[in-house]
Amino acid sequence: MIITKLKDIKDILGYLEKSDSVFIVGCNSCAAQCQTGGEEDVERMSNLLKDSGKKVSGTVIPDETCHIPLVKKCLKDNDSDIQKADALLVMACGAGTQAVSTIVNKKTFPACDTLFLGDVQRIGNFTEYCSMCGECILGETGGICPVTRCPKGIMNGPCGGMHKGKCEESDEKDCVWVKIWERLQDLGCEEMMSKIRSPKDYSKKKKPGNLRLNRR
Ligand code: SF4
Ligand code: SF4
Repeated sequence: MIITKLKDIKDILGYLEKSDSVFIVGCNSCAAQCQTGGEEDVERMSNLLKDSGKKVSGTVIPDETCHIPLVKKCLKDNDSDIQKADALLVMACGAGTQAVSTIVNKKTFPACDTLFLGDVQRIGNFTEYCSMCGECILGETGGICPVTRCPKGIMNGPCGGMHKGKCEESDEKDCVWVKIWERLQDLGCEEMMSKIRSPKDYSKKKKPGNLRLNRR
C-alpha cells in the first residue's frame, strides 16, 4: 500500500491562492486506508476549504485514483462540476495526482505527501517494508527485506555495529540480519544461512603505527 499523509492546510491554501473554485478528487484505495483520501477525509477537506472562503464545485472518490481508465470515467461523469472549478485538488498519492493531471487540462494540486510503500501494522500505523528495488531477494532472506529494513542496506550479513541482536542505529530496533538468521533457522534453511557472514571483527585491525615482526 502507498502511504500518504495530508499536507498542512496552509500549504494547500497556498496552492489554491488564485483559485476561487475547487473540485476535489479522493481515492478509495490506499489513501482511504491512510485517512487522507476517503469519504470522510474528502468531506473534511471540503468543509475546510469552504470555511476558508473557497467554493467546492464537486467531489469524486474513484476506487483507485492511480488507474487512469477508471479515473477518466469518474471525471467524465463529473465533467460539468469540474468545468466550474478553477483547479483540482487530489487527495491521493503522487501517481493518483498525476493520473488526474494527465486527464484534465486544469491546474491540479496534491493534497498529500507520498511517503513510502508500507504495511499496515494497525489503523493509522504503517511500516516501510519494500523500497521497490526492482530485484526482489526475499526468496533468499526468509521473506525479510534488508534493502529496506537495514539502515545501511547491507546485503550479506550483520555489520560490526550490531550489538546483542540490536541495530547500531537504536537499541530498540532489532538488527534485520539477526531476524533473517532466526527466520532461516526456524525454516531449516541451512544452505541459505551459510551465505550470511558474521559481523566483521574490527578489533583485529592493526592500529595505525609501526609494525614490528618478531624475527629470530
Ligand atoms: S528486495 Fe526488498 S526492496 Fe527489493 S523488491 Fe524485494 S521487498 Fe522490495
Ligand atoms: S546493525 Fe544490522 S540492521 Fe543495523 S545497520 Fe548493521 S546490519 Fe543493518
